[in-house]
Amino acid sequence: MSQTVEHFNYLHHIPELGFEEFKTSAYIADKLEAAGFQVTRNINGTTGIVAVLESGRPGPVLALRADMDALGHIIDGQHVARHTCGHDGHSSVVLTTAQEILAEGGIKQGRLKILFQPAEELGTGAIAMTEGGAIDDVDMLLGFHLRPLEECPMGQAVPAMYYSASATVEAIFHGKAAHGARPHLGVNALDAGAHAVQAVNGIHLSPSLTWSAKATRFLCDAGVTNSIPSEATVVWDLRSAENEGMTELKARVLRAIESSAQAYGASVDIRILKEMPAAIIDEDATGVIASAIREVLGDAGLTEPKSTPGSEDFFHYLRLRPQIKGGFWGLGANLTPGLHHPEMHFDRDALALGVKVFKSCVRRVLG
Ligand SMILES: [Zn+2]
Ligand SMILES: [Zn+2]
Repeated sequence: MSQTVEHFNYLHHIPELGFEEFKTSAYIADKLEAAGFQVTRNINGTTGIVAVLESGRPGPVLALRADMDALGHIIDGQHVARHTCGHDGHSSVVLTTAQEILAEGGIKQGRLKILFQPAEELGTGAIAMTEGGAIDDVDMLLGFHLRPLEECPMGQAVPAMYYSASATVEAIFHGKAAHGARPHLGVNALDAGAHAVQAVNGIHLSPSLTWSAKATRFLCDAGVTNSIPSEATVVWDLRSAENEGMTELKARVLRAIESSAQAYGASVDIRILKEMPAAIIDEDATGVIASAIREVLGDAGLTEPKSTPGSEDFFHYLRLRPQIKGGFWGLGANLTPGLHHPEMHFDRDALALGVKVFKSCVRRVLG
C-alpha cells in the first residue's frame, strides 16, 4: 500500500469537525516532524499547522495548503462527522508530497511551506491561519480539491478552479405575540419573514452577472397554533461568480429584509453567518500548475479552467494577502455521487497522481 493511501486510511477513520481536528493535526504534525520539517503547531490557537523546509539559498517562498476538517451529517438519526468533502484525501496528498520532497533531496532554492488548515467548511479556517501569520512571507500559494465525476474524471485535472463568492445571511424577525383571536394587537413575525422571502426572490441584478439568492431555512413556531408568533428566523444562501456582484447582491438582500420587517412593524437582527470570496487566481501560478498537470497526466489530462458555483475558503488567503500569487487546481478522481453526499467516494489511485502534480509544482518553483 502506498504511503498516501496509508495516510488516507488513517485520516478517513478519524473524521473531526472544524477547529476540532485534534487527532488529525497531531498525526500530520508528527509525520512532518519525523520527516525533518520545522513544524509549528496550534497556529493562532487552532489545530492549524505550518511546516517549513529551508533550502539555505535565496529564492521564492512557495506554500502548499491542505484542509483537514470533516462535515457533520445526520445519519440514521445520529450526528456524525464524516469526510464527505475529501479533505482527508487533500491532507494525505499534501503530507506525502512534503515527505517525498524531503526524501528526494529537498529543494534547491527559497523556502517551502506546508499549511494544514482547520475549518474550511466553516469558512473561517483560512482567516485564522492568515491572522496567525502563516502566510506573511509567502510569494505563491497553491491549493487543490478533488472534483466530482461530471466535472472532471479520473486521469484529468483542472489547472484553475474559478469558485464563486458565497454568503449565508440569517435574519431574526421580532414581532409581538398576541392571541390568534386578536391579531390586530400583535405583530406577526411570520408575515414579515414570508414577505422578506418574496422580496429577496424579487431582486434583479444585471442579467450579465452570474448569481443566485434563495431562502434555505424558515423557522417559526409559537408553540401553539392559535397565537401570533413573535419570532421568525429566515436564512438565505447567496452566490455570485464575481466579488463585485456579491457586494451588490448582499446590499439588495439586506435592504429587502429590512424593508420587509418595517412594512409589518417588526424589528430584525441580521447576521452574516458565513462568507467566502470568489476565486482570485494568478496566471503565473496557473501556468506552473498546468505544466505540472501536463507532465503527470499528458496533454489529454489537462482540461480548460472551470467555473463552479461552489465556494472555497482558500480565497480568504488571497483576499487578505493580495500580494500573494494564488493557484487552485482540481483533481479528477471519479468522485460520486457528489461532494458533501454522505456516501461520497472516489478512486483512491487519484491520490498518487495528486502527489505527482504537487511535487512537479514544487520542483518548478523551488528546484
Ligand atoms: Zn466541502
Ligand atoms: Zn472541500
